[in-house]
Amino acid sequence: MSISENLRYYKDQLPVEVRLIAVSKTKPVATIMEAYHAGQRVFGENKAQDMADKYGQLPSDIQWHFIGHLQTNKVKLIAPFVKLIHAVDSLRLLKEINKQAHINNRVIDCLLQFHIAEEDTKFGLNMEEATDILSDKEFKNLTNVSITGVMGMATLTEDEHQISREFEQLHQIFAQLKNTFFMEQPSFCELSMGMSDDYKIALEKGSTMIRIGTGIFGARNYS
Ligand SMILES: *Cc1c(COP(=O)(O)O)cnc(C)c1O
Repeated sequence: MSISENLRYYKDQLPVEVRLIAVSKTKPVATIMEAYHAGQRVFGENKAQDMADKYGQLPSDIQWHFIGHLQTNKVKLIAPFVKLIHAVDSLRLLKEINKQAHINNRVIDCLLQFHIAEEDTKFGLNMEEATDILSDKEFKNLTNVSITGVMGMATLTEDEHQISREFEQLHQIFAQLKNTFFMEQPSFCELSMGMSDDYKIALEKGSTMIRIGTGIFGARNYS
């Protein structure tokens, strides 16, 4: 299957309101251009320097989504152009994004990343930590960031019931935050969940953006 056929395969399954993010990490610009020529405009990267390099070489109407763990000292590399940062998991990071967004005279959209998987990872918030950030008096002053939703990754498992429970949990978190902190903000509307192996379950659970890498570009080669 070609990249354009793969893109078509996913597009055909998506409700109109769900966005397809083509995860192009580790892929060269020529490969990204193939997807671009097939009409794809939204790409996801997880390394700030790679994303900045690709931004410099590729058409300016591409929307760049940062999907990985972002170190505070790398924010400035992507602040001039990044469309959405998917994985904010601390107030410290949010403050740095705000600072760099201000320098670039922008408001940067961000998602809060939640830890929903059973796997042990240091990334991702729980409800209490998210509540602490959103109730912090410093948060109100961050006028150059906009929290537009939440993101999460399910456990890497064959157990579809477990994946389903985890995505359901993320949906609940989204709804609870909306009711508590974002009642008056229609811009808080994104539920970023679903990857090549679990996107179907994510769609059932109300995903608004799926992040697909291998399903579009084939296996990644980390050399
Ligand atoms: C790599 C990555 C993806 C894409 O994963 P695939 O299994 O290749 O579709 C999605 N989300 C995040 C956060 C990733 O790091």
